Amino acid sequence: MSPNTLLTIGQQFERRSWAEPWKIKMVEPLNMITREQRQKALDDAGFNTFLLRSDDVYIDLLTDSGTGAMSDRQWAGMMLGDEAYAGSRNFYHLEAAIQKYYGYKFIVPTHQGRGAEHLISQVAIKPGQYVPGNMYFTTTRLHQELAGGIFVDVIIDEAHDPQILHPFKGNIDLAKLETLIKREGAEKIAYVSVAGTVNMAGGQPVSMANIKDLRSMTNKYGIRLFLDATRMVENAFFIQEREEGYANRSIAEILIEFCNYTDGAWMSAKKDNLVNIGGWLAVNDETIYEELRNLVVVYEGLHTYGGLAGRDLEAIAIGIAESVQDEHIHSRIGQVRYLGELLTTWGIPIVHPVGGHAIFLDARAFYPHLEQLKFPAQTLAAELYLDSGIRSMERGIASAGRNAETGEHNQPKLELTRLTIPRRVYTQAHMDVVAESVRAVYEDRENTTGLKMVHEPKYLRFFQARFERL
Ligand SMILES: *Cc1c(COP(=O)(O)O)cnc(C)c1O
Repeated sequence: MSPNTLLTIGQQFERRSWAEPWKIKMVEPLNMITREQRQKALDDAGFNTFLLRSDDVYIDLLTDSGTGAMSDRQWAGMMLGDEAYAGSRNFYHLEAAIQKYYGYKFIVPTHQGRGAEHLISQVAIKPGQYVPGNMYFTTTRLHQELAGGIFVDVIIDEAHDPQILHPFKGNIDLAKLETLIKREGAEKIAYVSVAGTVNMAGGQPVSMANIKDLRSMTNKYGIRLFLDATRMVENAFFIQEREEGYANRSIAEILIEFCNYTDGAWMSAKKDNLVNIGGWLAVNDETIYEELRNLVVVYEGLHTYGGLAGRDLEAIAIGIAESVQDEHIHSRIGQVRYLGELLTTWGIPIVHPVGGHAIFLDARAFYPHLEQLKFPAQTLAAELYLDSGIRSMERGIASAGRNAETGEHNQPKLELTRLTIPRRVYTQAHMDVVAESVRAVYEDRENTTGLKMVHEPKYLRFFQARFERL
């Protein structure tokens, strides 16, 4: 080591790092296979990372959905499952946790987020009504459309630009919303669908000011406002960090204030709530609750279990309380940022600012020589897997599907490959390995030729589509 290096190390003692507010009690060994084996696995999977076997994956950044590590308290809670068909005590624990931390009155559990989306869409949308939202999420939009709704994107324009450093790129453009309301009439709007944070825009947050203004506008026209609360705790972190007046408010205080401006929420508990399966729906209006409570019996199960075991309900209740702790969310987002900063230092194009749950590689900028119809983001996900066994996900033209009327591919502005960080699972050393693999694929970018789709399922095609190299 040169004296210079020693000096730098000496200076590092001034550093103040974040670290995980937990230690590891049990480990799960990872599989590492050879490049030849990965090539075979990729061919068998039709170049679609959703079709890989997880045993063939080294670091799995496919999704943060249901992939988190539960705490020892949650595992202990699993043993307290009351597996009664009706009125399980764990349901009442969950109900109390949602009322305390999210503030809604009436709760319906569901097997996961899309179960909740299905129910709220069936109850709150009449065929032909519009559902304006801040960009779309795949399952959310599909359920709105299956209920006869017409999705309209009313997110601010900045959200579609991966390089603009707007602090709240998830905000709704109130002028766009009001134009729609005036053009179609308030009775043609089913509800406003607001997601905090916006996954497809890169995990970008919504500001408290925006939700307050939205509440005033929807009140003025008598329109309901529902929240996709899946990553609302992460959204609260950004409000605390960036919005005036919130620096000294706790994550829990910010969360409940935000929810208070909305009429209800649906939740994929597999994300913020730190469990491997589960979801819920919560509303303040008793009439809507009555309908939801009735419909849940048809599709999920009785209204006190909604397709979940008693032990799962308990794990969610405990997970909610853990998820709103400031130290938890600071280290969660600190880890995502650590990866983002490494990649940015190395000149690799990613979506800025870095959002809450993932790093989004900008595949258009990564592969400027590949037109969008050659699936650049899908290609990048395949190349990353081949290089190191890291599994990521396409969020671009394959995810966007086809236009229901014209049958043409939807061609979204954002063509992204998502490196999603599971909660409480990987270490900083794993993040280093990921960053180095992205850099290796970036250095080889000019040799990459793109993909063509050879099998296309009708619904949510990105899950099961197959591709071949061009
Ligand atoms: C995951 C997700 C959903 C759907 O939830 P599932 O639990 O996967 O069914 C809905 N909205 C957002 C923003 C999500 O990330």
